[in-house]
Amino acid sequence: MQHKLKLKIELIALMFVTLLSLTPCVGQSRESIPPNIIVFLVDDMGLMDTSVPFLTGSDGKPEKHSLNDFYRTPNMEMFAKQGIRFTNFYAHSVCSPTRISILTGQNSARHKATNWIKSEENNKNEFGPKDWNWKGLTKASVTLPRVLQQQGYRTIHVGKAHFGPFNSEGEDPLNLGFDINIGGSSIGQPGSYFGADGFGHIAGNKARAVEGLEKYHGKDIFLTEALTLEAIFEITKAKEEGKPFFLNMAHYAVHAPFQSDPRFSDHYKDSGKSPNAQAYATLIEGIDKSLGDIIQHVKKLGLGENTLILFLGDNGSDAPLPVKEGYSSSSPIKGKKGNHWEGGMRVPFIASWITPNKDAFCQKETIIKQNAIQQQMGTILDIFPTLCRVAKVNKKEGYILDGFSLQDQLSNRKNHKRNELFLNHFPHSHRSSYFTSMVKSDWKIIYHFQIDGSPDYELYNLKEDPFEFNNLSDKNVKQLKLMMEALIVEMKDKSALYPEKNGQPLELIKP
Ligand code: CA
Repeated sequence: MQHKLKLKIELIALMFVTLLSLTPCVGQSRESIPPNIIVFLVDDMGLMDTSVPFLTGSDGKPEKHSLNDFYRTPNMEMFAKQGIRFTNFYAHSVCSPTRISILTGQNSARHKATNWIKSEENNKNEFGPKDWNWKGLTKASVTLPRVLQQQGYRTIHVGKAHFGPFNSEGEDPLNLGFDINIGGSSIGQPGSYFGADGFGHIAGNKARAVEGLEKYHGKDIFLTEALTLEAIFEITKAKEEGKPFFLNMAHYAVHAPFQSDPRFSDHYKDSGKSPNAQAYATLIEGIDKSLGDIIQHVKKLGLGENTLILFLGDNGSDAPLPVKEGYSSSSPIKGKKGNHWEGGMRVPFIASWITPNKDAFCQKETIIKQNAIQQQMGTILDIFPTLCRVAKVNKKEGYILDGFSLQDQLSNRKNHKRNELFLNHFPHSHRSSYFTSMVKSDWKIIYHFQIDGSPDYELYNLKEDPFEFNNLSDKNVKQLKLMMEALIVEMKDKSALYPEKNGQPLELIKP
């Protein structure tokens, strides 16, 4: 009897030890395992496209605006509560520049992919610089997935890529350091969100048909859901292989075409908003469900304490809402995707461990304050250095990074060593054309290039006038000149390319 009891105790002890060894990151013995990383990137999602308030009142507390009441993102609400959200997070104003910046850690003025990449041709536009990087990334590019791959990560791309045109090295994520590519190619929007349409292969815009995903063709499934199921499958596989994973979960949603996701359409039918705006809201709710499903799956696999998610949008909102004197889908912030105002560049950013536990080793190394609001600036350029630090990747000698590690800011401290500067250089034609904007601490300058002879300037004090009502360029010439000096230094530092007229670069002209 005693022998049996001893065996039983030994068995329980063995089970306990096994259980401990399967729980990564808890206790000192597991410190060598690097954390899993998910970058959850939503196409065209702006700061106000969510029920999570990102703007704060004068007391520093989150403040809801009417758009926050229109959208339904319960999983983001939960996620924001268990992590930290940034009120001032900047991205470039269109897709490819941001996506390439996230992968390279460099400002678009430096990597030179300053416009969105058109699959079929050079998208320079009439006065765009002839040497702009319209082919995007190459096999030789230093990329985040490649450095993580070299660190032993299983690197997975799911969804929209948009890193290079047709027949370029950059069109295939497998050339850029990803082990797996699901649905990523040169296209910047899906031919259709419907499985019944084969995501563009059967019906819809065939030139923008989503690659792969054949098993869902003809089926009653929405693209966001199909991509989520594939991502979940790949996470399981990574666990089975015993490797840490880096998942670039890059949804095609919420980019046009604004097709209504039937799972959520009832939630908006009485909103009084246009059918397009309602469809957009269903796309938003779809990515919110995806976030929740991925979180639940990672928890179920027992990887929650060891998995970090960075959630963000790739440029300002493109919600199809009426525009009134420049205010629209980012209201009360001015402007939208493609614009030179804040609404073109401000995006949601939330960071959290999936299962917060301050005693887990990896969470001691990267502390993320819960239910916190970070007011200091963060940018897409910070993702590369932040994740290299999380994964303990050494800095590559001689490689220039334009961002800063968010390590301190994630713990809700201020990083006194970082600059608070974001340059968005757009020497092309779009909703706002041929402009460069630069935020530096409280001030923002916008330079409109001299296509018609002379430049135009805008100057705002974002601290006093966050919604850009008062252009001070005539009233505060002294500050305008200071900002121009700083802009010239920035552009030179990045060897920025200027718009061109009659074969000559249109260089910056001081006021
Ligand atoms: Ca985009």
